[in-house]
Amino acid sequence: MSTFLETVRESIDEASRTLGLSEGAEMLVAEPKNIIEVSFPVRMDDGNTRVFKGWRVQHNDALGPYKGGIRFAPSVDRDEVTALATTMTIKNAAHALPYGGAKGGVQVAPRELSTRELEGVSRGYVAAIFKVIGPDIDVPAPDVNTNPTIMGWMMDEYSKIAQRTVPNSFTGKPIVLGGTHLREEATGYGGYVILREALREYGNEKSPEDTTVAVQGFGNVGATIARLMAHDGYKVVAIADAEGGLYDEGGLDIDAVEKAQVHAGTIEKNRCYPKALKTAVPKEVDCKVVSPEEFLALPVDILIPAAIEGVINEHTMNDIKAGTILELANGAIDGSAERYLTKQGTLVIPDVIANGGGVATSYLEWVENREGRRWQEKETRKALDDLMKTAFQTAFEYSKKDGGSLRKGAYVAAIGRIVEAMRARGWLNGE
Ligand code: NAD
Repeated sequence: MSTFLETVRESIDEASRTLGLSEGAEMLVAEPKNIIEVSFPVRMDDGNTRVFKGWRVQHNDALGPYKGGIRFAPSVDRDEVTALATTMTIKNAAHALPYGGAKGGVQVAPRELSTRELEGVSRGYVAAIFKVIGPDIDVPAPDVNTNPTIMGWMMDEYSKIAQRTVPNSFTGKPIVLGGTHLREEATGYGGYVILREALREYGNEKSPEDTTVAVQGFGNVGATIARLMAHDGYKVVAIADAEGGLYDEGGLDIDAVEKAQVHAGTIEKNRCYPKALKTAVPKEVDCKVVSPEEFLALPVDILIPAAIEGVINEHTMNDIKAGTILELANGAIDGSAERYLTKQGTLVIPDVIANGGGVATSYLEWVENREGRRWQEKETRKALDDLMKTAFQTAFEYSKKDGGSLRKGAYVAAIGRIVEAMRARGWLNGE
């Protein structure tokens, strides 16, 4: 089974061969430019000091300032942050954003912290990486277990050290601090725009009412796309979170599930830790509980992994029955599983275009903050739609050219752009 980083590197290698890149040019695209590892102290509620470990990996900045989220999780390590930073370089270029790619992570179990301790970790991390970030250098945003509240604290910490308010030092902020109305739903919404483009281009003829969907992950991204698709008439028959899955072949009432989830713990939801669906769903939602293995094997038309990486791999790929997979979680499908599934005729819509709605909206927030003008929601949505549709069309055109996958199309388009920028900067020595 390939690791996430290996899968990303394989895709870079494949696209580099198609583009005929020299070894040096490929290395410049594949290797991270800076890996910053930090340790910082936080005073805990019991009076003791705890030291936390974090990373900021700045992968490539040929196209502009580094950009990428910050993840809080106990399992975060240097390799994971590096793989995520690499996909950010590709994703930003695939969406034609004027950014390079980066990612940050802190090894922490946020659920075990009080709000005051969580704020301490957020501020401590920013102070530790202050020198290497900034609106024209590297602009962080939320990722798993970080949210607008945390971005607000982080922007404030950055501004305190810089001794001036710097709104565009972070994106994904609360609206009152210059955040955008769309950020919360941006990734799920953007994924839905891409899915519709793909279904149209690949000639899907089923009506939404006849199309069954399973969404793995019921957090920000998964719940948004499940809700949007259910409202448009799609039959969302299954959803799952870390504790288990729910399945009803007649379709789930997603609004009722969301309501039940909010009901189960407002504080948890505000901090992005939805309660387990299994315990949160009361009698009002009538469905079966399925295990993770059963979930992936459900007979659905569209499977949307929107939780964690590596879930579709050589152990699970044989069970997949969905004809279309929309990869909303970064690295949800590993290289060997993708090769197998593509051979079986499954349409795989890869993470680097499917989940770019978040960073594309972050870009719009950054532009808005630079202009010092508030955009109307309509204006932001239209700009986001255009960015997503263009990203899909570009990847699709490249994939048609050489009969390769959509992922390969996206990587070829993105790396072509990055190499053009490196050449224009004179990094490739006239190559
Ligand atoms: P989140 O923390 O809000 O939600 C994650 C969900 O996944 C939760 O419901 C959790 O219970 C569930 N989950 C965790 N482990 C699981 C497992 N083993 N099986 C089933 N469900 C499991 O996170 P999110 O912001 O929705 O992000 C989800 C994925 O999308 C991540 O891979 C993230 O990197 C990617 N992503 C998110 C954004 C964004 O803007 N939020 C942008 C790009 C990519």
